[in-house]
Amino acid sequence: MKELLVLREQALSCTACNLHKSRTNVVFGVGNTNRPKICFIGEAPGEKEDDAAEPFVGRSGQLLINILKEIGFNKHETYITNTVLCRPPRNRQPFPEELAACEHFLVEQLRLVNPKVIVTLGTTASQHLFKVTTKISQLRGKWWKWNDTPVRATFHPSFLLRSPNMTKFFREDLSEVLLLLDSSNNL
Ligand code: SF4
Repeated sequence: MKELLVLREQALSCTACNLHKSRTNVVFGVGNTNRPKICFIGEAPGEKEDDAAEPFVGRSGQLLINILKEIGFNKHETYITNTVLCRPPRNRQPFPEELAACEHFLVEQLRLVNPKVIVTLGTTASQHLFKVTTKISQLRGKWWKWNDTPVRATFHPSFLLRSPNMTKFFREDLSEVLLLLDSSNNL
């Protein structure tokens, strides 16, 4: 899609926030760009993503792909990106000014890719998209809207690597998304 390629080109040379100073690569979103069933939004690229210039290629990404497989969902029906496109030093959380500087890349990706459902992964992505400061444990378990698109918030896979007992809630959240996708002809 030409507009998305233009946006990607803009991102690759972006220096709008301090994260450009420590990045190896800009990590633009990847996946199905033609109205995917799900767009996942994570927090920020990590070391492996920064090296590979691709989101969710590390252990968190593998866990996400494995769980999608388990619940019968094809990753080719998804698009995946992050709230900021450059890796924060030492994998710290992005600062508010960095989230703000990168927000138009996120908004434009969502507008152009036009997913049927958005899934925010973890506190940073969920709070950033919903413009709230509520904990992820209180944001998950219900439907939100971003413009007219349904959104489900859930835990970040990196949290599940540290707390595998919470994976059942992640599966529950994704199952709700699949139920909506299966049951709604309007999406
Ligand atoms: Fe630009 Fe976003 Fe990278 Fe900041 S994080 S330099 S706004 S692409």
